[in-house]
Amino acid sequence: MQAHVALPTAVDEAYTYEIPSEWGNIPEPGRRVLVPFGSRTMAGYVLEVEHAAPERRLKPILEVLDETPLFPEEMIPFFRWIAAYYLHPIGLVIQTALPAGLSVESHRVVVITDLGTTALREGSASREESEILAALAHGRPTRLSLLKNKLPGASTEAVLRRMAGMEWVRLENHLKTDTVRPLKVKTYKAMCLSARATPKQKAVLEYLWERGETSRPRILESLPGCDSTLRSLEKRGWVRAGARKVYRNPFGEEYSISGSPPLLTPEQAQAARVLAGAIQRKKYEAFMLFGITGSGKTEVYLEAVKSVLGEGRSALILCPEISLAAQMEGAFRSRFGDSLAVLHSGLNPGQRYDQWMRVIHGKAKVVLGARSAIFAPLEDPGLVIVDEEHEQAYKQEDGLHYNARDLAVVRARMSNAVVVLGSATPSFQTYHNSVRGKHSAIFLTERVGGGVLPEIQVVDMAREKPGTRFSSVLLKQLAENLDKGEQAILFVNRRGYASLLFCIKCRTTVECPHCHVSLTLHAPRSGHGEFLLCHYCGFKSSVPKTCSVCGSKHLVTMGAGTERMEEALSELFPSARIGRVDRDSVPTRSKLFRALRDFHDGELDILIGTQMIAKGLDFPGVTLVGVPGADQSLHFPDYAATERTFQILSQVAGRSGRRNKPGKVIIQSYLPDHYCIRHAKEHRFHGFYLEEITQRAELDYPPFCRLALVRVSSTDPIVVREAAGAVGDILKHASRGSRGVKVLGPAPAPIGKIRNRYRWHLLIKAADAGMLHACLDECMVRCRQAVRKIKADLVLDVDPSSML
Ligand code: ADP
Ligand code: ZN
Ligand code: ZN
Repeated sequence: MQAHVALPTAVDEAYTYEIPSEWGNIPEPGRRVLVPFGSRTMAGYVLEVEHAAPERRLKPILEVLDETPLFPEEMIPFFRWIAAYYLHPIGLVIQTALPAGLSVESHRVVVITDLGTTALREGSASREESEILAALAHGRPTRLSLLKNKLPGASTEAVLRRMAGMEWVRLENHLKTDTVRPLKVKTYKAMCLSARATPKQKAVLEYLWERGETSRPRILESLPGCDSTLRSLEKRGWVRAGARKVYRNPFGEEYSISGSPPLLTPEQAQAARVLAGAIQRKKYEAFMLFGITGSGKTEVYLEAVKSVLGEGRSALILCPEISLAAQMEGAFRSRFGDSLAVLHSGLNPGQRYDQWMRVIHGKAKVVLGARSAIFAPLEDPGLVIVDEEHEQAYKQEDGLHYNARDLAVVRARMSNAVVVLGSATPSFQTYHNSVRGKHSAIFLTERVGGGVLPEIQVVDMAREKPGTRFSSVLLKQLAENLDKGEQAILFVNRRGYASLLFCIKCRTTVECPHCHVSLTLHAPRSGHGEFLLCHYCGFKSSVPKTCSVCGSKHLVTMGAGTERMEEALSELFPSARIGRVDRDSVPTRSKLFRALRDFHDGELDILIGTQMIAKGLDFPGVTLVGVPGADQSLHFPDYAATERTFQILSQVAGRSGRRNKPGKVIIQSYLPDHYCIRHAKEHRFHGFYLEEITQRAELDYPPFCRLALVRVSSTDPIVVREAAGAVGDILKHASRGSRGVKVLGPAPAPIGKIRNRYRWHLLIKAADAGMLHACLDECMVRCRQAVRKIKADLVLDVDPSSML
């Protein structure tokens, strides 16, 4: 017998090992085994076991590490697909897929067996063996490392292996797992309404009688100081104490969970019916669920999961963020109880391992998680849901550069499952696929509780004084808001890392003559003045004094970041309480949540921030959203810049006036007539799509071509350039003959240096995925070798979502 084993190292193929013939227990696919690899011993993953006469002598597997497989066999083709598509070694793909705790927290232990005890008693063991057996005689599993410390003979390991072969000892792998300790709160429930109660007690009893079981913090919030009353009521048996797991949103508020589903709106019911029908067919089908904010998509997901469980199959739900996953967990837990497992990086390794094992053992048939949950070891998933599918958070940007949204579609296809891509602002790709009929479409067009989308006003910045940061309209509105004690959000697209040149007269940015993307303005460096650079092809030019289109001298620099905005604003409104949220000001999650909570609790008047504040969060006090530099991201050197700007504007607008107070949105733009701004103003997605698709077709960008980005980095600016050049030579040579593949670059990346590493990149444009992969398969091995030789690093990003 032999096994194909994938090793978590930079080799593309699985290696074949012999399964020692004396083993009765064949390690089936999905288990980890210990194997010799070169001079090392490594843990690998069994992919396949077969009977075959080996052509040459194979090295044997040393040991099986797992009692049960870590993933179902049906996932192996999925892993193989990923390895081939992203050109990533299969062993590393599997390592990425498995919970990190597995390798971090496991340690090996030795246990004595009955045969071993007998051998020790009868004295049939050698002196060395007896020493070991004596150390183990207590019968408890002993850590291998401790044993080695105790018996510092160099051969302990070999002796142990021999003894394991004679079944005197067993070598096992123990995982240190923290059991999941859910956060629990004390609850109280009224048992009766007693006539003998004191007025104070009566108040508490009536409150509880009406509300049913309620958590202690919430009771204390509503009836401050009733702590001792509660205790006396409990003593009398008039209320009963209990405990309940709590779910909190990022602000630390509790969710009220009701187990019974609400009555679905007609739109929701129709959507649920359509999905149930598809789920019953048990064939692959992809749906775009396009539902405006507040249209109740979660209820539709819950219904679909119910349908798939009814078919005896399992379900996977992805959320872009831990905080959003936590919000959703409450809803899913109340409906599916212990059948739910959660997988995200907010869990510690032990918890994640426990959740993983519950899925493996079939105890959990519904998995909810962030990006990496796409690898959940579910058997026979019949439904895969991707909520907020447009989010860039689904793209993993280091190691294996995968897109969990795309993989959701692949996994569903391989499993004959239904995939639902839900969003209020679908990604361009998903919407395009639905227009082409590749995905079916479901629309939710109304907010559940009624309510309307906010009114959006667009201010033409070309009519303001040149260089103005805040228009008079926005300032007036901000002042009014402050007077009324209402809150405002100012949204800034990304950090102001890049500056562009913009002509106020003819409203164009200065563009690269070769690539149709804006040139980036670079600040003077030693020996150079200011210059313009194309980050696609490397074209460089000096800074023009006049606009090349209209000849006007009114060129302005665009690109103020959050920090400068905050400064300017505190000068204008010295008494306002202003907070700033971006990666510089809140480097950690906990700080981010604290800032958001302060704002949520009304401790701040104005919040300035980047993307971080645009997502799914609900701030009840906000009645004004301002977007001072709406165009900024429109000109990013990225073909998807317009799509992203449209999405962000739509999402941010959704933050305003979500309760009963009407909301207002003010967008400042130099391009008020740009189709992105026009359609965002009217909440018109399809109109935007039609114009954007024309642009993409004209400029030949996805979906009309496929892209791969090769990024080279080094701590040395000369080396990185040389490496990029070498890659360029290989790629250009290979693509010379073929009409379907074009190579752009090498050029410095827009963000030229990150963590002391200089970055250059090349963009490969191919007519379709087949041609792209033909080129990559032909060249990447050589590119990697060339780069390694110069001691630089290479990263391949297939279907890049960011060109920065
Ligand atoms: P979306 O994700 O589409 O923005 P949600 O799923 O978060 O919307 O739902 C918005 C709100 O409406 C939630 O508070 C939810 O509990 C509530 N809701 C959803 N469906 C119904 C319904 N059929 N009846 C009453 N309330 C509902
Ligand atoms: Zn001009
Ligand atoms: Zn260019």
